Amino acid sequence: MPLKYPQLISPEMQAQYAYQKAKLTKALERTDSLEFEMLYRLVAREMAQVHPALIIPYVELCISPQCTLRCRDCANFMQHYHKPQPMDLEQVWSWVTAFLESVDHVMTFRVMGGEPLMQKQLPELMQRLLAQPKLQHIQVVSNATLMPKDELLNLMSNNHRCSMFFSNYGPKVAPRYQEIVKHCQEHHVLVETLRPDISWFDMGDCSDRHLTPEQMAATYQRCPNNCRHIWNGEFHHCPRSAHAKYLGLIKDIPEQDYVPLLALDAETRRTRIRKMYDADYIKACNHCGFATGFHLIPCAIQAEKPSRRGPHADANAADTSATVTGTLKQGNQAEQSAQVSSTNTPSMGLVDTSATALNLNSSVYISALNNPTPTATSAAANSSAATAAAPAAAPAAVAGMKQVGTVGGLKVYAQRHANNHKKSKKKRR
Ligand code: SF4
Ligand code: SF4
Repeated sequence: MPLKYPQLISPEMQAQYAYQKAKLTKALERTDSLEFEMLYRLVAREMAQVHPALIIPYVELCISPQCTLRCRDCANFMQHYHKPQPMDLEQVWSWVTAFLESVDHVMTFRVMGGEPLMQKQLPELMQRLLAQPKLQHIQVVSNATLMPKDELLNLMSNNHRCSMFFSNYGPKVAPRYQEIVKHCQEHHVLVETLRPDISWFDMGDCSDRHLTPEQMAATYQRCPNNCRHIWNGEFHHCPRSAHAKYLGLIKDIPEQDYVPLLALDAETRRTRIRKMYDADYIKACNHCGFATGFHLIPCAIQAEKPSRRGPHADANAADTSATVTGTLKQGNQAEQSAQVSSTNTPSMGLVDTSATALNLNSSVYISALNNPTPTATSAAANSSAATAAAPAAAPAAVAGMKQVGTVGGLKVYAQRHANNHKKSKKKRR
């Protein structure tokens, strides 16, 4: 590097500079030298300050809303799609390339639907994904109703950079579960599964909960499903936001709540993606069941007719509901998201009832969680006492319910709704 003001530098300093330069030039010839290592670290540190790395802990890619099941409570709103279209590989790939162009590294990249195994071009997509060095681990999430094609399994065989992740919805909904898992294992594919005794979080309908910004921030802060989702060329905070926007279930989602991957240049995308991790809340939080707590429901109940759980859905549609009095440990959201991602199914409304995987903190109670009135609930959730207090008595909404057991040390309450109870009486007669 030519000296700009050599006259200002003493001959001793010039000699020192020449010596260091010669040393570094020599060091660069040998990448195993200590000098090279030190120089590399120095440059990396400088670069990180000028151009910090953007590492995404977890992101989901929805390749098509087509699904073999029609779960009444699908948290990704797949039940609201009428005649969903199959994946267009080139279109999906344009989202992926735009996204990867803007980030440095992705730790877990989930391929999901709907049911991704319905997509004929999935093996080709997988092949392209495996060729991306920025992707650390690629997971294909399936509801275990379809046997994966050998073409896909051969690609994934003996490759620990990718895995099949199967939900376990029980023998009634997914009778081929065991056979499918065994087949994948025989192909030496890394398989991740869930225990069958799982419940889902009831994420409710899309109605306006009339939350204040502070209440939305509290909801977002304790959200276990805040997991980042790519759909329709957009990068969203969660699948709920992405699909509710696409389906028009939530109107006027503001631009800052998502990144339109194809409409921006790489640098702007990068800035916008980074900014999303600093968000306090998104509009969808005002339309989300997490505003009133974590209510457990049985998983994968199949809807016979098109779902009624849209914007004007009946909130009492579930036969039974359970409420966990507890909260997620406050802390690093990225860490929470990564933990949830390792246990959840495509619905992302799923909780392993062992509760350990979700980091549920049994010693802390949020009294607001079970309050039936959204406004009152949110006000309580917003107060600092909501996270600190540990009331001994059951919260108001749990009072009329029966404790049916404990989940990971948390009390679980359940009730049968009056209208469904009447129906079952009628049937018996
Ligand atoms: S929860 Fe999963 S299996 Fe059920 S409809 Fe949604 S995507 Fe399909
Ligand atoms: S809408 Fe908000 S609270 Fe609900 S899942 Fe998405 S980020 Fe979480």
